Amino acid sequence: MIKNNYVKTVYNSIEKKYPYEKEFLQAALEVLETLEPVVEKDSSIEKLGILERIVEPERMITFRVSWVDDNGKVHVNTGYRCQFNSAIGPYKGGLRFHPTVNASVIKFLGFEQTFKNSLTGLPMGGGKGGSDFDPKGKSDMEIMRFCQSFMTELYRHIGQFTDVPAGDIGVGKREVGYLYGQYKRLANEFTGVLTGKALEFGGSLGRTEATGYGLCYFTQKMLKTLKNTSFDGKRVIVSGSGNVAVYAAEKAQQLGATVVAMSDSSGYIYDENGIDLDLIKEIKEIKRERIKEYIEKYPKAEYNDDCSKIWTVKCDIALPCATQNELDENGAKSLVENGCIAVAEGANMPSTPQAIEVFLNSDIAYAPGKASNAGGVATSGLEMSQNSLRLSWTFEEVDKKLKDIMENIFDTVYRTSQKYSDGKNLVAGANIAGFEKVCEAMKIQGIAY
Ligand code: NDP
Repeated sequence: MIKNNYVKTVYNSIEKKYPYEKEFLQAALEVLETLEPVVEKDSSIEKLGILERIVEPERMITFRVSWVDDNGKVHVNTGYRCQFNSAIGPYKGGLRFHPTVNASVIKFLGFEQTFKNSLTGLPMGGGKGGSDFDPKGKSDMEIMRFCQSFMTELYRHIGQFTDVPAGDIGVGKREVGYLYGQYKRLANEFTGVLTGKALEFGGSLGRTEATGYGLCYFTQKMLKTLKNTSFDGKRVIVSGSGNVAVYAAEKAQQLGATVVAMSDSSGYIYDENGIDLDLIKEIKEIKRERIKEYIEKYPKAEYNDDCSKIWTVKCDIALPCATQNELDENGAKSLVENGCIAVAEGANMPSTPQAIEVFLNSDIAYAPGKASNAGGVATSGLEMSQNSLRLSWTFEEVDKKLKDIMENIFDTVYRTSQKYSDGKNLVAGANIAGFEKVCEAMKIQGIAY
């Protein structure tokens, strides 16, 4: 509930202008609500129209992507790139290929990315892109033709100093490879225009693991600071079984936890003895099959075909790593009732506003995604540095930098939440800390955009 008049006016104006963009409005409301104390302290924010400018993307590009399937049939999808805010660096943020992608989803992700990138301490603005193309069930050649068509338009809007996309849902190493190949052909240059590249052409060691590992480094610091405990001996549930989920589960296991449940969009598996991650990687990364296959090798494990019920599994720590709004009020209540002590988001906006409310009113230590999943983009920033330097760092070097960055993010967020609230509300801490730097940069740069 917004009380400050200026903040209310800004929110009402986007609500009126973009009534159908529900994900974007949800993300904007969550941030604006927490910025009230900052706005009240600093009257120049209103005078300089910072909030009006920060909720409006600098540029939103929409384009047609036509491609031909293996049977010669022509298909048309919509491509997007939202260049949200470049106050502190070139636009940076992933590309998502999923049938649910639309302008609202891309805008919410670009908006969140602006604050997240600011929190990393690296010079990166916020952006996001993607398409409503569904990679599921497509052949490699179909994926390649789609990626080439997508990049044929996108290439004119991006560049190592303007906008550097990466992967997200449905966009992994394979897609980044095809996208990069087409960019290089069209631009006639070999630069670090995409991150998440394969090691053979400028990728960074540690980028694949970064979001999941980073999530656990952040959670580890949060557990120590707020709960005086660690992952060791804890029961963990991880939703999803994609890039973020797999490496979050891997690091949680390395830190001594037992991961007892994971999911995909069809259902979840529960294995009391601890999930066999090598099998999950084989099923999801290599065979690109359904997680249900897990029970063929482990018949004692259980499969439930309602993925949203994963939150009813008893656990100490929950890591939502699948998609937006996957954890609702009921899920949050189940976690609280079952004695969960920490929820840390690997996905972007996985908890609904009602679920967040439940967490903030409980004893759970709750880490919002824009802080706890920043390890992916932070390591993308490290990939950009290596590309510029024409160097590559070892896995250990990158992992050490990632750990430092995640611990710094926790410290910044925690300190800011202590300054503006009770030290437990890390949502406010993350939003305010991310906002402050972008806001100052916007003030210094004037009002040209
Ligand atoms: P992937 O495409 O690699 O994996 C997504 C996974 O989530 C798949 O296993 C998918 O299952 C599953 N899934 C989708 N919807 C649901 C659902 N409703 N319930 C349970 N599982 C579901 O994507 P990423 O791992 O890259 O991204 C996951 C989240 O993390 C997204 O929110 C993304 O924006 C965020 N993120 C990603 C970063 C990165 O570096 N990759 C960085 C920061 C944030 P299925 O196989 O059935 O589709």
